Amino acid sequence: MSIPPRIGFIGLGVMGRAMAENLVKAGFNVSVHNRNRLKTTGFADKGCEVAATPKALARMCNVVITMVSDPAALDAVLEGPEGVFAAGFDGSLLINASTVSVEYAKKLKDRCFAERVRFVDCPVSGSKPLAEDGTLIMLAAGEEKTVDEARPILLAMGKTVIYAGPAPAGTALKLCVNLIVAGLTAALAESAILAERLELDPKLIFSVLNESPALNCGYFRMKERNILEKDFPPAFALKHMLKDARFMLKEADGRGQRLPVTEAIEKVMTTSYKLGEGEKDLTVVLKTLAEEYRKARAI
Ligand code: NAP
Repeated sequence: MSIPPRIGFIGLGVMGRAMAENLVKAGFNVSVHNRNRLKTTGFADKGCEVAATPKALARMCNVVITMVSDPAALDAVLEGPEGVFAAGFDGSLLINASTVSVEYAKKLKDRCFAERVRFVDCPVSGSKPLAEDGTLIMLAAGEEKTVDEARPILLAMGKTVIYAGPAPAGTALKLCVNLIVAGLTAALAESAILAERLELDPKLIFSVLNESPALNCGYFRMKERNILEKDFPPAFALKHMLKDARFMLKEADGRGQRLPVTEAIEKVMTTSYKLGEGEKDLTVVLKTLAEEYRKARAI
């Protein structure tokens, strides 16, 4: 940017906290806002300004990055009398990293155009450890010159920027990639359950995966402890993947396409969510499949 970026970061959850910290580490001027103000204290200690509202934050900044849960959360921080757009954010840059629907990302692109705000649709691939290491994959979409301008900021949070095309292609790409993550998680969980029913130690599955040049996948290693210890501390909360699966199904359906495998996984995740597991890591489907679906079979 010709004017030095003054970044306002909104959403200091599992991902946003780590991403904002990496921007601070990279030397950017960062101010923050989070609905629950408790999560801002670490940033205030680092000398970052903390804004009471998204509007107040946007007034201090020429770049706003949003990393919140979903479309409703984005509406809450962007719209209304205390939202970012109420700040007269004209000419500035909005980078949305939250995963939303393609429909919502398109609506946001149009909204930014109407407000003369430049927009980068930039969901991220990679979970908590990659956010902490600053090695996320940034799935950027928008006008190429705007993405180029945002690139130094994006590269403080990620190791690479993949340019997907005009917005909302970043969100479209993110949903395609997350479909694979949902499938891999369900496959790991069902495989571990089948192993137990066959009186095999599920650890043996990971021994094979880790030795195999074809199946030795970082995601499997990342989730090995959760699966083997049946412990699901949140890295990527089930509620977020459930939201994404519903977006995938809706977008596909709107284009006359069924995704039967994702439909089945969405049903399992819905059961898990209804059992109160939404805040746990998405690998918690293992518990749901092992307990609920066994019970259902026994009836
Ligand atoms: P998270 O830990 O649940 O944090 C969600 C953030 O959104 C918090 O800052 C929360 O504020 C804020 N928020 C929620 N509802 C709000 C509302 N109505 N108004 C204002 N703020 C609101 O989520 P996360 O894991 O960081 O994920 C954030 C986004 O990135 C999601 O779209 C997710 O799908 C996507 N994502 C996650 C991962 C991952 O592995 N975790 C990876 C890639 C992409 P409070 O603190 O006040 O609740």
